Amino acid sequence: MTNQAEQRVKELQNLLQQYDYDYHVLDKPAVSDAEYDQLLRELSKLEQEHPELVTPDSPTQRVGGAVLDAFEKVTHETPMLSLGNAFNADDLRSFDQRVKQAVGENVRYVSELKIDGLAVSLRYEDGQFVRGATRGDGTVGENITANLRTIKSIPLTLKEPVTLEVRGEAYMPKRSFDALNKQKEENGEELFANPRNAAAGSLRQLDTKIAASRNLSIYVYSIANQGDAPIDSHSGGLDYLDTLGFKTNKERQTFDSMEDVIEFVEGWTDKRADLPYDIDGMVIKVDSLAHQEELGFTAKSPRWAIAYKFPAEEVETTLLDIELSV
Ligand code: NAD
Repeated sequence: MTNQAEQRVKELQNLLQQYDYDYHVLDKPAVSDAEYDQLLRELSKLEQEHPELVTPDSPTQRVGGAVLDAFEKVTHETPMLSLGNAFNADDLRSFDQRVKQAVGENVRYVSELKIDGLAVSLRYEDGQFVRGATRGDGTVGENITANLRTIKSIPLTLKEPVTLEVRGEAYMPKRSFDALNKQKEENGEELFANPRNAAAGSLRQLDTKIAASRNLSIYVYSIANQGDAPIDSHSGGLDYLDTLGFKTNKERQTFDSMEDVIEFVEGWTDKRADLPYDIDGMVIKVDSLAHQEELGFTAKSPRWAIAYKFPAEEVETTLLDIELSV
């Protein structure tokens, strides 16, 4: 039985590592996110049952990502982590219980849209944008400053001369994605699988003219190192980012109960189709920064946040969307 488990664990680790490579290095996913997530869950369950089979390089232990040699490397002072996943209301209730066991009953949550793009880190010195990087493997990313400077919603100068690093999701709006794939089709070129992969592919080009032509945008969602920022909550941090001139997503909401969070996130399952950009879920974060500090991190993700993943969209819908919009 253990031999069987060992064999399956190895099989899943290898398979998921290959899928990570296709997705993060080639920007060409071999399987759907839902299929990937299901295999990762199977691996995670087997590893929990047989902890002796967990290896440090298992996809359950590492931030899946890659660093292309073509770019200068950037070491993140604050690691850029992944997020734990919830696939239904009960997973969110379990998360709520874990949080309350650690910090007590009085917890406020912020719920945000989970934008389906590429995580980037933006560094500002004295209010000037000086460096932008990809997440990479979480510790080391790629310096893509020149490409990020072409994104008009990234401020090059902030409204105050502060020094700070922020994190956000660079993404390709649906309209830009449809136009890009239409153009690729006309040129007989291979199409991008989805806006996420198109955004990642555009930002990891050596020719900045390509990124500039792709109409990318960004939503900034956190401050990596607070520094002297006058804030004690995540929601306060987002409001502060607004005052500095960053583009944050306004669909966020704070809640005092997980049941209200659940109602809110489930409500977005259908509404998301009307958004002009792709989201692949919702992110729920503990609002108090003191509580966040108390909860801390695992090797791969913060214990104070979780990603609620929507059920996979039908492939037919995506194809129909493309046909309708061209
Ligand atoms: P993740 O995408 O599930 O969550 C972490 C990321 O969410 C962050 O890095 C950030 O970029 C993003 N994010 C968007 N909005 C955010 C917000 N408001 N606040 C905080 N973060 C926000 O985890 P991951 O480790 O980046 O990627 C793993 C996922 O990627 C898998 O679960 C799978 O769905 C997909 N994937 C798919 C394949 C495939 O072959 N289809 C391969 C590898 C990974």
